Amino acid sequence: MDRLKTNILKFVDWVTVNRNLLFLAVCFMIHAVFAVVFYRLGIWLLALLNCFSCCFYLRFLLIARDTSEKSMVATYFEIILFSVLSELALGPEFGFHLYIIGLAAAIFYLVPTYGNKRFIYQIFGIVTVFILEVVVKIFHLQFPDLQEPALPYDTAFYLVNLLITTTVVLSATFLYSKETDSVWDSLRYNMNHDALTGLYNRRFLERQIELIPDNKRSQYVIAMVDIDFFKKVNDTYGHEAGDAVLVKVAACLKETAQNENLAVRWGGEEFILYFPNTTPDKIYPLMEALRVRIENMAIETGGKLIHITITSGIATGMADSNYEKVIGNADEKLYLGKQRGRNRVII
Ligand code: GH3
Ligand code: MG
Ligand code: MG
Repeated sequence: MDRLKTNILKFVDWVTVNRNLLFLAVCFMIHAVFAVVFYRLGIWLLALLNCFSCCFYLRFLLIARDTSEKSMVATYFEIILFSVLSELALGPEFGFHLYIIGLAAAIFYLVPTYGNKRFIYQIFGIVTVFILEVVVKIFHLQFPDLQEPALPYDTAFYLVNLLITTTVVLSATFLYSKETDSVWDSLRYNMNHDALTGLYNRRFLERQIELIPDNKRSQYVIAMVDIDFFKKVNDTYGHEAGDAVLVKVAACLKETAQNENLAVRWGGEEFILYFPNTTPDKIYPLMEALRVRIENMAIETGGKLIHITITSGIATGMADSNYEKVIGNADEKLYLGKQRGRNRVII
């Protein structure tokens, strides 16, 4: 089942990446089929029209190898022109106007970066379809030579055109929503996480604590962690090595903060571990183990081995505590630890 889901997701990704190419290829195939159908019905003019359209798509697909958004815009107007001419030739019962309506919706997915221009394209399509229907209905345009051979199949034409249009609209909507979902996911991730370390960011922690009403919050522990002499790491080994150290320390913090606890990059080389529903005596051994682990760790970066230490300050928050004050208390403890020689946990 998981494999099937993975394959479907892979297919959707592939379609998303190659959507313009696919759209051009599908348009080419539809015109090729129509060219054959109209040829078989002996409607030369429409067979020729579809041959011209096939050449239009072959140019994009084989000669110019252009699958840019510009080619999508050109395709949009080609479809409008083709639909208008087919509708004028055969009449509204064949449903060629449906393509214009469907494409007016799908254009938003096909040319995502065209901004407001897409509304203009859309309005152009809708106005065209209105004028077309009015012209066809009011002037009772009749071209018996063209219509008669196709008349027995008007319903079949209508249904096929309806099927193609709705398939294009459904596919575009599905892919558009998939894309929007993934954009939302990455926005949500970036809003809550620090880009370098992948830990939660300051805003996330603040919101998380604020979400719980003061009187509902049970006792919690805040541990503030700061890397000792981190500026020296940057000065000695370079900023990139400094970043590598931050990533490694963050990974250790993440392991310490398991389950419902949160590991947060508070800023620069300062981190916070948030432990809800617990007491400081339970957290102290964890922080001490973390301190020892980091002290004994050699961080390898750029062929160099870097040794660092951390200092932590632990503070307790009660149900009615102001969390900013609790963080301030943890910071004071941390400062005390720095004054007492660093590489220690102060409770
Ligand atoms: P102390 O033991 O008192 O904490 O000394 P320290 O050198 O660790 O503290 P200080 O505040 O003097 O220096 C912190 C340094 O952290 C300065 C800043 O350039 C560096 N820093 C902050 N953010 C980043 C980052 O994202 N990447 C890297 N490489 N360095 C950073
Ligand atoms: Mg520091
Ligand atoms: Mg600092």
